[in-house]
Amino acid sequence: MSSQRLSGKTAIVTGASRGIGRAIASSLAAQGARVVVNYTRSAAEAEALAAEIGGLAVQADVSLVADIRRLFDAAEAAFGPIDILINNAGVANFQPIVESTEEQYDQIFSVNARGTFFCCREAALRLRDGGRIVSISTGATVSSPAGGGIYCGSKAAIEQFSRILARELGPRGITANTVSPGFTDTDMLNQFPTLVGIAAGMSPLGRVGQPADVASVVAWLCSDEARWVTGQNIQAGGGASMV
Ligand code: NAP
Repeated sequence: MSSQRLSGKTAIVTGASRGIGRAIASSLAAQGARVVVNYTRSAAEAEALAAEIGGLAVQADVSLVADIRRLFDAAEAAFGPIDILINNAGVANFQPIVESTEEQYDQIFSVNARGTFFCCREAALRLRDGGRIVSISTGATVSSPAGGGIYCGSKAAIEQFSRILARELGPRGITANTVSPGFTDTDMLNQFPTLVGIAAGMSPLGRVGQPADVASVVAWLCSDEARWVTGQNIQAGGGASMV
């Protein structure tokens, strides 16, 4: 396997300043891609990563369509036509549906579902033929935990967008897939101490996932080796969710 298998490719990774997105950006860059490191607030982290991997940090809130256009414009201006979009930016909350508010619903859906949808639309307009779209969902759409109503609902939408895009963009050789992590050691997981307590025990492998565990699956989907895989939802959660 070539260590430079993404040489000549340009990638946008949303939410790449921290956690899983950061590991994905590093992995794609290590394999030769030019990477745009998107973030909303963590400018210092994003700039440091971009400097480390020879990429470009771009602030943009994916819940705003104007910001998405500006993100793609900046990517094209720096690196030329785009080959890869990774929809990783995400936010989470957990509470029973009966306790959920309109504000909580709108906050999660505007980033996870709306943000991913309009990033996909922009990619459909701008990606080069043979490109790749990978969207990050969650194994929780399979396990359907109590408290996950809003979060899992927003992620289920992403999975459907991917399948539809796989059909719409397949004629251009563009694949669209979803990767669903399980519990992964990031700031997002650490917001929920109860989940941290049970995370390792959910995997037959007996540990919590690391961002790099997910990133290597995403990088493979971006490679030519995965050219025949499209419209799939790949569980990358150490077996915590089995379908
Ligand atoms: P994280 O550590 O909280 O990092 C979230 C990233 O998303 C940050 O880079 C953040 O940017 C960015 N972001 C948030 N809102 C954004 C917006 N509106 N526009 C652009 N970027 C935005 O999260 P993570 O755990 O790495 O999660 C990454 C993805 O994996 C998410 O989609 C999440 O739902 C999914 N996931 C995570 C787990 C887990 O256990 N960690 C499990 C399953 C799925 P700033 O730094 O600027 O705030």
